[in-house]
Amino acid sequence: MQTDLLKDRWISLKYEFIGILRNIKWGRYFVAIEKIHKVSNIGDAITLLEKYKEKAELLAGGTDLLVHLREEKNRGSIIIDISNIREMKKIEIKEKEIVLGALTTFSEIVQNDYIKENVTGLWKAAKSVGSPQIRNMGTIGGNIGNASPAADTVPPLLALDATLRVMSNDGERSIKLCEFYGDKGETALKPNEMIISVGFSHLKNRREHIGFEKLGVRNALAISKISCAVYLEVQDKSINNIRIASGALGGYPIREYIVEDFIKGKVLSDEFIEVAAMKYSEALEKRLSGRNSWPYKKEASKGVFKKAIYSLVNSYDPNNS
Ligand SMILES: Cc1cc2nc3c(=O)[nH]c(=O)nc-3n(C[C@H](O)[C@H](O)[C@H](O)COP(=O)(O)OP(=O)(O)OC[C@H]3O[C@@H](n4cnc5c(N)ncnc54)[C@H](O)[C@@H]3O)c2cc1C
Repeated sequence: MQTDLLKDRWISLKYEFIGILRNIKWGRYFVAIEKIHKVSNIGDAITLLEKYKEKAELLAGGTDLLVHLREEKNRGSIIIDISNIREMKKIEIKEKEIVLGALTTFSEIVQNDYIKENVTGLWKAAKSVGSPQIRNMGTIGGNIGNASPAADTVPPLLALDATLRVMSNDGERSIKLCEFYGDKGETALKPNEMIISVGFSHLKNRREHIGFEKLGVRNALAISKISCAVYLEVQDKSINNIRIASGALGGYPIREYIVEDFIKGKVLSDEFIEVAAMKYSEALEKRLSGRNSWPYKKEASKGVFKKAIYSLVNSYDPNNS
């Protein structure tokens, strides 16, 4: 108990110190961080969110937030440290769905055999994140809530058609992840709400697969330059269903509905994958042409898309179709 209190005080002092340093640097008198609250249950967290609303900022693993603080890009001056809320730190394999508590770390996803075997694209995305230190601290809720276009676990969650469970003093509601993001880092989250968990249906049989590929500058510590997640359901070589999501290829991680509609119902073949990759590239061009990075991204994104599809084709078992 005594040790916990000392630890909390130490964390609090650390943030105050960062704030003081920043303000000395800029010649300001007031510290940017007014207060840090450490909570251990959802009720206390949402009560504080209700009280402070836009002034509040959640701290989960802190891997993004500490960078924002250093760069003076933090959104709120009241930090609510939720890292101790146990009920948000679990992976539940339920009968109908898989639910990841918002405080589940990338490492916990990587260590989960069920996810590795059955939700491979999400597992690969979690495994590709940063370094072991970042994977141990960074959470899935933070990855979603930070609203970066390059958040690695978001494309596979979009391709899985995931739903967020969010909570505030007004109660609980669900938000489809595909409706969560808007331009310039905006999200559908109200200032008094926080993400409690993210859930998605089981892949029902061996005909359904989820894949993920990423092209980073280098493996360790690389924020992804381009990523693509694909959910594919194939029966007798015919593509029954497909969901595609791109990372770092727009203002936020994004579903590629036009390409999905083009691909659905077609027969899977090497030739068709080439055609589909062209269609994917055309869809991206509408968003990205004119940007300096487009000539590079044009070629690279086709390669990443084809790799994601082929990773699924290779795991597709015709005996189970
Ligand atoms: C060196 C380095 C390498 C990295 N590499 C990668 C990488 O390869 N791939 C990648 O995707 N990311 C990477 N990141 C970014 C970061 O690690 C992830 O985005 C991580 O998931 C953030 O989670 P967190 O728990 O640390 O979030 P925090 O930093 O605690 O919070 C981030 C934001 O999300 C909000 N938030 C947190 N939890 C919730 C919640 N439950 N409800 C609502 N909002 C919430 C916070 O208020 C804050 O605005 C890297 C970061 C660093 C510093």
